[in-house]
Amino acid sequence: MGYAEHDIRLPAASGDAELRALVAKKTGLRDFAFTILKKSLDARRKGDIAWLFRVGVSSPELPSGEAPATPDLEPERRAREERVIVVGTGPAGIFAADYLARAGFAVTVLERGGRVEDRAEAIAAFEAGGTFGASDNYAFGEGGAGTFSDGKLSSRSKGIGFEREYVFRRFIEAGAPDEIRYMTHPHLGSDRLFRMTGTLRRSLEERDVAFRFGEPMTDLVVRGGRVAALRTPAGELEAERFILATGHSAFETFRMLIARGVPFRPKNFAVGFRAEHAQEAINRAQWGVPRIPGVKAAEYRLAAQAGDGTGVYSFCMCPGGTVVPASAYEGCSVVNGKSDYARAGRFANAAVVAGLSLPALLGREIGAPEALDWLEALERSYFAFAGGWVAPAMTIRDFLAGRSGSRLPDATSYPLGLVPADLAELLPGALVAPLREGLAEFSRKLRGYDEGLILGLESKTSASVQALRDPETFAAGFPNLHLVGEGSGWSGGIVSSAADGLKAARAIAL
Ligand SMILES: Cc1cc2nc3c(=O)[nH]c(=O)nc-3n(C[C@H](O)[C@H](O)[C@H](O)COP(=O)(O)OP(=O)(O)OC[C@H]3O[C@@H](n4cnc5c(N)ncnc54)[C@H](O)[C@@H]3O)c2cc1C
Repeated sequence: MGYAEHDIRLPAASGDAELRALVAKKTGLRDFAFTILKKSLDARRKGDIAWLFRVGVSSPELPSGEAPATPDLEPERRAREERVIVVGTGPAGIFAADYLARAGFAVTVLERGGRVEDRAEAIAAFEAGGTFGASDNYAFGEGGAGTFSDGKLSSRSKGIGFEREYVFRRFIEAGAPDEIRYMTHPHLGSDRLFRMTGTLRRSLEERDVAFRFGEPMTDLVVRGGRVAALRTPAGELEAERFILATGHSAFETFRMLIARGVPFRPKNFAVGFRAEHAQEAINRAQWGVPRIPGVKAAEYRLAAQAGDGTGVYSFCMCPGGTVVPASAYEGCSVVNGKSDYARAGRFANAAVVAGLSLPALLGREIGAPEALDWLEALERSYFAFAGGWVAPAMTIRDFLAGRSGSRLPDATSYPLGLVPADLAELLPGALVAPLREGLAEFSRKLRGYDEGLILGLESKTSASVQALRDPETFAAGFPNLHLVGEGSGWSGGIVSSAADGLKAARAIAL
């Protein structure tokens, strides 16, 4: 049996049969099997949009070659003395728990919110005009921040190839499509993520992981320089190791940790707004046509550098998606985006943010508590302006022209309504000019971009603080306290947070 890899270009509307026929034609083989290694959309020429494949072909007719081995991170299972408590069921926490349970540890998982089914109900009720769920919202609850999202699985993090393989294998076992292995921009969508979250939990329960929902960690109990237990409303929970995977939205958890001596520093982050456009306008700008059979919806990723050096970029684009009220707290206003797997909605949205160094903005050194206070005050100011959950919004054209009082379109995907606002007044002053320059540049790069709408506030593209942690053990402040994911400020996104949790678990299991 021999093996060889080939690149193949196929018209966008082609299916599996056409791909197989082209592999046969290109290789001249009759008896062969192939796997797709990579698949990406080639949209460089507007009239000739096609899929590019890299395929691995195995055949007895090939004289040599061997398919590359798949990296294997599966842990060695053996009897373990230590009990581990994992706090948080986002990707960082759940993959740490998964690995440790497979390695033989007794694992308990603590989650402030409810099971994903209850969380989905709480969000639906809130969006239908009901009350805000303090523990079950777009930031908190089973599955973590990215459960109701576009579920993009691309990551720019370096050195996580093995972890990525492990995470994708588990995702596929939990119901993700096989294509996530090879698509250059893989994504799951909210609908699939919702189902997969419950499946992943049940697979961990089968490995004797104990889940405690609706139970927030409220304090650390420190004895003799180690964490002896976590405090929750139900009492103290003892263990030998603690993995905190609480995400980057839990202000009071950060403050509690800092008060207990866990070291954090401010970190550069980004704020701005979410831009919304008709998806068809983005399709036309990217492809020259409103639709291409066989392709979902056009994406974009834009970046510009303002005259003062500030980086302005689009982030977390949700093709065919909706803008969502993503605040973790009542009285704070934050927007984000989600899409279903089909990405078939009328609108496209993406964060448009400017990079930010708080010490530079404020003109002095600050500590982590002040960074948290500054961000919370900004989120509160948007809510106070709107007088509730309606989102402050304006047209991109008005923002570019420095005009206020936009006439807002009737149609938007944001479920809780819009209120006209001059976002230049609500944003930190130093970011207004860079964001204007950035949007002007985006409008030159993508035709019709200035016909969109912008909604505020987008403040959660990454954490505003970062734990000072040991690079080998991921421990911060105490030898048995491991901080992972965006609650540590060391990851960004679903896959890199999952990889971070896995790395910490591997360090513990070694
Ligand atoms: C709407 C939205 C869309 C997104 N879209 C994408 C995307 O498409 N692709 C992508 O890569 N990333 C996306 N992200 C970012 C991504 O979700 C995060 O990077 C990722 O979830 C971080 O994982 P984590 O496990 O570190 O933390 P989180 O996912 O934030 O999980 C933290 C968990 O800890 C729990 N918790 C917090 N405090 C406590 C406490 N004191 N006690 C007990 N439990 C606690 C929370 O309830 C939560 O379940 C999106 C985020 C949002 C909000």
